[in-house]
This record gives sequence, C-alpha cells and structure tokens, in this order.
Amino acid sequence: MNFNGIDFDTYFKNYPSEDGYFGKYGGCYISDELKKAMAEITEAYFTICKSAKFISELRRIRKDFQGRPTPISHLERLSSSLGNVQLYVKREDLNHTGAHKLNHCMGEALLAKYMGKKKVIAETGAGQHGVALATAAAYFGLQCDIYMGSVDIKKQAPNVARMKILGANVIEVTHGLATLKEAVDAAFEAYAREYKDAIYCIGSVLGPHPFPMMVRDFQSVVGIEAREQFVSMTGELPDAIVACVGGGSNAAGFFSGFLNDPVEIYGVEPLGRGEKLGDHAASLKYGTEGIMHGFNSIMLKDENGDPAPVYSVASGLDYPSSGPEHAFLRDVGRVKYDVVGDEQTIDAFFALSRLEGIIPAIESAHAVAYGVKLAQRMGKGSVLINLSGRGDKDMDFVIEKYGIR
Ligand SMILES: *Cc1c(COP(=O)(O)O)cnc(C)c1O
Repeated sequence: MNFNGIDFDTYFKNYPSEDGYFGKYGGCYISDELKKAMAEITEAYFTICKSAKFISELRRIRKDFQGRPTPISHLERLSSSLGNVQLYVKREDLNHTGAHKLNHCMGEALLAKYMGKKKVIAETGAGQHGVALATAAAYFGLQCDIYMGSVDIKKQAPNVARMKILGANVIEVTHGLATLKEAVDAAFEAYAREYKDAIYCIGSVLGPHPFPMMVRDFQSVVGIEAREQFVSMTGELPDAIVACVGGGSNAAGFFSGFLNDPVEIYGVEPLGRGEKLGDHAASLKYGTEGIMHGFNSIMLKDENGDPAPVYSVASGLDYPSSGPEHAFLRDVGRVKYDVVGDEQTIDAFFALSRLEGIIPAIESAHAVAYGVKLAQRMGKGSVLINLSGRGDKDMDFVIEKYGIR
C-alpha cells in the first residue's frame, strides 16, 4: 500500500534507515564512547535476531513463560451501550506481569544473554519498566541494576518491593529533582562505565538507535497476533485500531501489524488537566522538533528549550517526547494522533470495569476512552483497542482520588 508517497509494502526494510532514521527523526545523539556501545548492540541485534535458535527460543518463552498469545475480547456490553459499533480489546493485561512491557524486556534480556553480558541496566519512573526488566533478569539469571529517583521510590513503594523481591538492585538517585530525568542520566553514566559486561535496556521506543527499532520489533508480536486473531474471529480487518502513546512502545508494536492495511490508526496522548504546558504530556500534538535522551523527535520544551515538565493521571504516559517513528508516522499522516484528558479516562476506567469485568491500567483507559468517542463518531463498523495493561497498580490511587463512580 502506498500512502502519501511512502511504500508500506517495504516499510520495515526501509524504516529505520541504516543509521537509525525514520525520515528526519531518530538517530544516535550520544557521546563517542556510548556510540561504540550502541554499535555493538546494533551489530549483535542484526546477527543474532536472524538466527533460528534465537527466534525459536524467544517464541518458546512467549508461549511457556509469558502466556502468549494473549486473547482478543469482544466488549459486548460496552458496545451495545454505545450503539452499533463493535469494540474489541487485545488483552496485553493478560501478558505475564500484567502489561506489554515484558514483550521487549524478554527480547532485550535474551539478546544480553546471547551477547555474553552479565548485567542489565535501566532507569524507571513509575517502576513498571523496572519490574518487567527485573522479571526478565530473574528468568535469565542476569544481574539487574535499576536507577530510580528518590521521589519516585517513595511514590511507588509496591513496585520497588516487587523489583527487590525479584532480586534487582534498586539504586537511588538523589540529585536534582530526583525523578525520571535524573534516573535516565545516572543509568546512562553507569552504562558508559560498565558496557563491556552490561547492556542498557530502554523501556520504550525511545533513546538512541537501535532502541526505537529493536523495541518496536520485540513488541510487533502484539500486532501480528492481533491481526491474525481479529481476522479469524470476524472474517475481516477492524475498521479502526487505537492505542495509547507514552513513549510509544505498545502502540508501535500493535500498529506495525496493520500499517499496510486499509485500517484507520489512532494514537492517543494524555491531555491531563488541559492544554497549558505542564498540564499534559501530549508531545505529538503540542510539541516541536528537538533532541533529548539521545534521539531527535517531537518534544515538549520549556522556555529554555529543555524538556518541559509534563503531567498525566497515568504515570506511564508522562514523558515529554514520543518515539521517533511516531513523529514520522504523524508527519506522513498514516497514524492520526489525538488526545484524551484525565476525566474521560477515569470514566472509561470505570465503564470497562463495570460493563466488562476488566479493570484496565489508567494508561490503557486512555485508549478505551478514545475508542468510545470513535465509536460514537463512526456510527457503524468495528474498533480494536490495545489494552496495554491491567489496573491493579492503579486501584488504590483511583479510589483515593476519585472515589467510586
Ligand atoms: C508503560 C506503560 C504504557 C506507556 O508506554 P508505551 O511505551 O507508550 O507503551 C502504557 N500502558 C501501560 C500499561 C504501561 O505500563
């Protein structure tokens, strides 16, 4: 399929380019020392990931350990409460550890093992990436160092406990604002010191090349499964698909299965409390081009051009940029990006729980809220939503802040 001059039949061969660009976005903007480390990972990825042994081991892990394929569920009661459009969800909440993040963490840790590394290093904000990586490290017998700001350590006590139980080292970062940005810097510094024995595992389709490509490829299992399952369930493709976008990993993997199909694709960013800078994290809607954390993309900037403070009710979505592939797909027009705020998200959180018996992660509830809006707009047809994770981690917070609706 050709779309605005881009040939989607050969898309995955051409995007990213050899040096990691999706159009003008992406690349590798880091120190020469770290560039060497990234080149080593890129080379290993292209060699190892083509080997039948790696592919069959990853497939076996997906099935026997992660519990894949995850099902698709038809949301019968929610759909009939809205009208004639049929809504479906891809159940990444049923992936082991309760979200899609394990899909790329198992891939990254398996790659680390094949490369002979002894340790995985990462940063975490809300702790979800840290928990997924600690799980993968335990499975493969790798050491695991997770850098986390002291403010986040206090806020995310259950995830800190999970990481420690899984055997990870949670390293407290106390300088600056002591949140995600400082944790990213500290983890990169550690990686520059330790890259001979360690591999850095980025938590989304972000960071320097090859991570936006590698994380997308490891997440593409979601899109491949979803397309096959939906066609076998209904005999046709969905009319539209929807996923939430923080860094963009669940969306990138899910979308990858449908880019070459006549399917409308929607990415949903968090509008938070509103349109003012600092009240949302909708980088693709309100941001401008810029470089941060080693890659060029669309980002939200403050008056000095630095990453702006961002907010969302979903801590997994509050990042001031999005993966370079999303910036590219936005410019091409293949994916439409739109926003949903906190209030509609919480309504969708309760609607899915009450009508379907599925408590979604607040991140995923953004996609559900948008699916509901889309159903009302479309009037007929089908919408497949990626339910990126389950809401157990969010229940106490929702009850405390919003009460029972
Ligand atoms: C981390 C997280 C997200 C956001 O990350 P992406 O890279 O944008 O997918 C979304 N949903 C859940 C459940 C998460 O844990």
